[in-house]
Amino acid sequence: MPTPIALADPRVAELIAAETARQHDTLCLIPSENHVSPAVLAATGSVLTNKYSEGYPGRRYYQGNAVVDGIEELAASRARELFGVEHANVQPLSGAPANLAVYAAFLDPGDTVLGMALDAGGHLTHGWGVSVTGKWFRAVRYGVRRDTGTVDLDEVRALARRERPKLIWCGGTAIPRTIDFAGFAAIAEEVGAVLAADVAHIAGLIAGGAHPSPTGHVDVIATTTHKTLRGPRGAMLLTGEQHARAIDRAVFPGLQGGPHDHTTAAIAVALHEAAQPAFTTYAHAIVANAQALAAALAERGFDLVSGGTDNHLLLVDLTAKGVAGRPAAEALEQAGLVANSNAVPFDPRPPLDPSGLRLGTPAITTRGLRPEHMPELARWIDEAVTATGDTDTLDRVRGEVTELARAFPPPA
Ligand SMILES: *Cc1c(COP(=O)(O)O)cnc(C)c1O
Repeated sequence: MPTPIALADPRVAELIAAETARQHDTLCLIPSENHVSPAVLAATGSVLTNKYSEGYPGRRYYQGNAVVDGIEELAASRARELFGVEHANVQPLSGAPANLAVYAAFLDPGDTVLGMALDAGGHLTHGWGVSVTGKWFRAVRYGVRRDTGTVDLDEVRALARRERPKLIWCGGTAIPRTIDFAGFAAIAEEVGAVLAADVAHIAGLIAGGAHPSPTGHVDVIATTTHKTLRGPRGAMLLTGEQHARAIDRAVFPGLQGGPHDHTTAAIAVALHEAAQPAFTTYAHAIVANAQALAAALAERGFDLVSGGTDNHLLLVDLTAKGVAGRPAAEALEQAGLVANSNAVPFDPRPPLDPSGLRLGTPAITTRGLRPEHMPELARWIDEAVTATGDTDTLDRVRGEVTELARAFPPPA
């Protein structure tokens, strides 16, 4: 039976089929990606995409929202329960707009924000110069220690005392180590700043008990729903009652129009899945795989920023391997291993051609790969990054990767 897309638009159907085949036949090592369940996928493709529901449950600007109210209330209550918070806003369209809502809730343009530098592992929206958050606010940045590759809370404290930020961000996109939420909270309290934890990458680990929770330590938790949490592309803002109104008003009408109700439904499904015992197993398996991959790569002479990982991701400095991040990522892709090049702390190379690779295990763990597969994966990575331009080697590795990938298909 041809799908409705194939009947209506064969060209798009072909492209979607090609993407499905790509995802099946390669292994995704991008730490911010995952494979959602068929239930999450079905919710995102539901008739909820037809509805407009500006406002919040019980306070909408359009009629016909009784069902949508139920869906949004369900998603929010599941989020509150899973993360142990008093208030959840599930409307942010994605991580970057969610973070912008945090600024809108607490800051005026020109106010000072302290965030982790992008090139040390932070996110663009934590005040980097090319982001509006770095243009409209006065951004100051902390990094990591050169000797340990980890955040130095003494540096953060000194910066906070000197710069008096109104908002402090902890969390980021390339942090292989546990975030000390209590440590940041002490600093925020000392300088009277709002503390926001951006746990986009690790939300699933937190939900599954494989990373400490920021709940009780921070004013706002911002997270995407599509990374380790394994939901649809979306985001949530979690707070205590005292900040609920400010956050809600910042999201709507401050920044957004109508929420994406199909996404809200899929977030509800993903949160239900994340509350099951199997998800706790999954979260711990992500970390076990990452640590096994780190050990296997270290054995092959790879230099890992901070020496290893506590979570789902590894940051690899390729300098010692004599190859830059971008050609390495391209060679990996030819070999069926999809990853991304990434700056490493104190990177001497430019951002578009950095020295590192960022690798993660959320997607391959969803497919069922286990620690015993990691030495083979490390061998393929080693062979590929040291064989840039050697088509024979890359083709051979790709054959081996595809065989394993087909034995561990994504959920369907
Ligand atoms: C992915 C990510 C974001 C942005 O999410 P988008 O959905 O891509 O807008 C924000 N913060 C952190 C830490 C992230 O990892």
